[in-house]
Amino acid sequence: MMGKKCIGSKVIWALLFAGGLNWGLVGAFKFNLVNAIFGGWAWLEMLIYILVGLAAIASLFHCKCKVCKGEMPVTK
Ligand SMILES: [Zn+2]
Repeated sequence: MMGKKCIGSKVIWALLFAGGLNWGLVGAFKFNLVNAIFGGWAWLEMLIYILVGLAAIASLFHCKCKVCKGEMPVTK
């Protein structure tokens, strides 16, 4: 479903997944996973929310690299 993606695209996808999952947990169980894990470091918790926001913006723009365009095999 995801196809071949570069590391950057995978990181963005992972951040969006984590952010979406966290919102789901907050809505369903009033449980903030990010706060539970990183609540002890307020700046780190805030940084994660900002990164998720940036990932959402970045996901609007399709990555133009060769891996994402299918011109290069994915190396692991
Ligand atoms: Zn890419």
